[in-house]
Amino acid sequence: MSNKLNIVLFGPPGAGKGTQSEFLIKHFGLVHLSTGDLLRAEIQANSPLGQQAQSLMSEGLLVPDEIVIGMISNKLDANNSAKGFIFDGFPRTKAQAEALDRLLDGRGEEITAMLALEVPTAELVKRLLGRGATSGRPDDKDETVIRKRIGEYEAKTAPLKDYYTAQGKYTGIDGVGGIDEITARLVKAIG
Ligand code: AMP
Repeated sequence: MSNKLNIVLFGPPGAGKGTQSEFLIKHFGLVHLSTGDLLRAEIQANSPLGQQAQSLMSEGLLVPDEIVIGMISNKLDANNSAKGFIFDGFPRTKAQAEALDRLLDGRGEEITAMLALEVPTAELVKRLLGRGATSGRPDDKDETVIRKRIGEYEAKTAPLKDYYTAQGKYTGIDGVGGIDEITARLVKAIG
């Protein structure tokens, strides 16, 4: 199909998707698309979309599919000449995964690989509470909200493993260890 590199960086909240994206975008020259970052920017700007998303995000619940799909569609259009994308925190539901496949197909592209960072729940909670002390993210401060986000991931997002496995695109990556060590595992998997 196309020679663009489109990576879905997958994993529960706190798995290290944002941290690892920073290196991968530089190394492979990709555009980083994080729906969480895009939503937080909308909240910061106090836009109607931000206002709609804010209470759901503060409760640790997913925002509606059509909101995040629309945001991703706009960003794909705005970055037509990109070498490829890292999708971070998107897709999070089957409807989002199907929409992403359709959007990419319309551009003559496809997902190259889905790399899933695997981290035990106890470690996720520890990392997120640690991040909450400095990130300023309200959803990182409260353990109940953190556990709700992990619950949403398990119920709605984790099943995407099957979706990408069926396409032969799923690769699990051990997400525990030093940052550089995990980066090396990802780079090796991208090949
Ligand atoms: P993140 O920065 O990826 O941890 O996302 C923070 C919050 O933004 C999530 O807990 C959701 O409320 C919302 N969010 C981010 N991405 C999505 C998505 N793809 N679908 C639905 N909600 C999302």
